[in-house]
Amino acid sequence: MPELPEVETVRRMLAAHVPGKRVATAAVSRHRLRTQSLAALPKQLEGRAFAEPRRTGKFLFLDLDGGMTLLSHLGMSGRWLFSPAGVDALDEAMPHVHLRLTFEDRSRLWYQDIRRFGMLRVVPLDRLAKDPSVKLLGPDPLEQPPTAESLRACAKGSRVAVKTFLLDQRKLAGIGNIYASEILFRAAIDPRRAAGALSLAEWARVAPEIGAVLGDAVARMGTTFSTYRTIWNEPGQYGEQLLVYDRPGQPCRRCGGEVKRFVQGGRATFWCPACQRGRGNTRKHAQS
Ligand SMILES: [Zn+2]
Repeated sequence: MPELPEVETVRRMLAAHVPGKRVATAAVSRHRLRTQSLAALPKQLEGRAFAEPRRTGKFLFLDLDGGMTLLSHLGMSGRWLFSPAGVDALDEAMPHVHLRLTFEDRSRLWYQDIRRFGMLRVVPLDRLAKDPSVKLLGPDPLEQPPTAESLRACAKGSRVAVKTFLLDQRKLAGIGNIYASEILFRAAIDPRRAAGALSLAEWARVAPEIGAVLGDAVARMGTTFSTYRTIWNEPGQYGEQLLVYDRPGQPCRRCGGEVKRFVQGGRATFWCPACQRGRGNTRKHAQS
């Protein structure tokens, strides 16, 4: 599933190409995304020009003129694909395309989503903060980097496992299953620990790794396991950097011990039990 680094990669690429472009035609598929019909989109989008795209967590706000925004979430498998004017980068026979925008300069922007868990809705900007999908989102960790103190305050009294805590979009918006495992490995924190039980010193290990892991992943255009692609239909390159995620049974890159997998809150967690010992582990790990 695309997480913050994948969505930020898409946002940056769209920011380089779509601002100022005006929609000539918009066509939608007859399918629903989750439960939502796309039938209203063509009328809402045709004639509007795109502004600078923004992002909070995993949500993209493709701002339009006239005080509107196209709210986009990639769900499990959503992709924005772009074809510049005079280039034929998008194949008309491509399946699962649910929105086809053609701009006045003949460049094209398509939304493809195989599993259809994504979201596309036009929302007035003055109602965006109260939108049910957006209003509960916590701070975006790249926009507002968390500190040890802010994380400890946010987790106060929480009995949920720290891995599950990091996935809670109301606490921090944008971290998903891949990066939560990586952050906790790099911070040498046992993913099973209750979030409310971490000390300030332990949060002081977690806080900088959040920005470091997400920042490194953005720099490599995110991680592709199956469906995520950039707007040029390319996979992300961060998969080669993963230290524990999707490496069960393989040697830990730090200690040589075995990376383990277990299911936590219905999601797979990957970790190194030797490097991520329980309470009292204050071992410092050199960055490789
Ligand atoms: Zn290890």
